[in-house]
Amino acid sequence: MDFQIDESFAATLDAQDPLASFRARFLHPTKPAAADGGATIYLCGNSLGLQPASVREAMNAHLDDWATWGVEGHFHARDPWYPFHETVREPAARLVGALPREVAAMNTLTVNLHLLMVSFFRPRGERRKILMDWPCFPSDIYAVKSQLRAHGLDPDADILWLRPRTGEQTLRTEDILGTIEREGGTIAITLLAGVNYATGQHYDMARITAAARDAGVVVGWDLAHAAGNVPLRLHDWGVDFAAWCTYKYLNSGPGAMSFVFVHERQLDRPDFAAMPRFEGWWGNDPKSRFRMGSDFEPVRSADAWGLSNPPIFAGVGVKESLRLFDEAGMDRLRAKSVRLTAYTEFMIGHAGGDRVRVITPSDPDQRGCQLSVVVSANAKGVHRSLVESGVVCDFREPDVIRVAPTPMYNSFRDVWRFARVLRRVLDSHS
Ligand SMILES: *Cc1c(COP(=O)(O)O)cnc(C)c1O
Repeated sequence: MDFQIDESFAATLDAQDPLASFRARFLHPTKPAAADGGATIYLCGNSLGLQPASVREAMNAHLDDWATWGVEGHFHARDPWYPFHETVREPAARLVGALPREVAAMNTLTVNLHLLMVSFFRPRGERRKILMDWPCFPSDIYAVKSQLRAHGLDPDADILWLRPRTGEQTLRTEDILGTIEREGGTIAITLLAGVNYATGQHYDMARITAAARDAGVVVGWDLAHAAGNVPLRLHDWGVDFAAWCTYKYLNSGPGAMSFVFVHERQLDRPDFAAMPRFEGWWGNDPKSRFRMGSDFEPVRSADAWGLSNPPIFAGVGVKESLRLFDEAGMDRLRAKSVRLTAYTEFMIGHAGGDRVRVITPSDPDQRGCQLSVVVSANAKGVHRSLVESGVVCDFREPDVIRVAPTPMYNSFRDVWRFARVLRRVLDSHS
């Protein structure tokens, strides 16, 4: 793509953006105040997405209905609580390329990873390892190590790490596939990130899933940084299970409800009811849910992994946000994202020169919207100055700044302003 550095070019790209009006559907932070007198430049949707403008009214409606109806709100609230989780199933399934029954809203991400591993991590003899990608989000490491310990396995020996080659920052697909081919017989499950949180690399999920299944491995994905960021086709790819949170690219608010995916192949297993599973009343078939004291009868959908009645206040943002994703459409979001991210990479290069290096792959198929930028000198100070100048982005030790221009609510002009601040900050630190 041919980009130019001037502000009018950013304005032209914004004028051509069919999704530009979605920006106004979100509440944009005002703090920290921007040094140039404009609005805060928010490039942190990888960590916490912005608030859809409709959330407050929806939240208030639930508060009012609770006040008006008390327990009757389960059925008489304007958006009744009892079937609330049903109403987010289909939009979530569309977003990740799943059948509706393969998707369920419940809990939070790490909880869901545990619940899914209880069922799908069944080490037997030699086949007992969990394949993961490095660097890895700490919570996933804690979850996996504790699962290994719960099986009496060795958390240090029984995680098989995929690491970048010496001198490289990201994984090569051929190395991932090679490891699966070579070590497949020792791997029980894979639990890779669809998009790596630190490097922003998006793995070739279709090929990795196919290779792992060929090797007899159960395939799980952590989609925390992939859902709402890159197009997904979990059903067609044949993924066994997956989970993702909704407060990053899915803009559902801090601690909002998570989702699980379980492939229908797993749901239709003859031994479905007998699968090891941690059980609760919300995973029971709704037809017999209230027959207290009877045996657990799992509903034949991803809901079987649910434990509790849906947390409405952690779900309101999910519902409002998924409406916006349906309206914008993942295809259009992706098309804008590819352009916006390439423009961001171009502007970072222009502003930073050899003082910065983007370690996220430049191939659009291997990334979403996040760019991980290594700052060669005083990275932490540079990050602090960026924030003080009104740019919200985040920092990972020792020297990486992550910026995520999200196609849903960021503009090309946001990126242009960011680049101007970045150049000033880098100049002041050198
Ligand atoms: C954000 C994130 C989490 C956070 O988990 P919670 O249980 O929602 O706090 C876990 N894993 C990955 C890979 C993440 O990116």
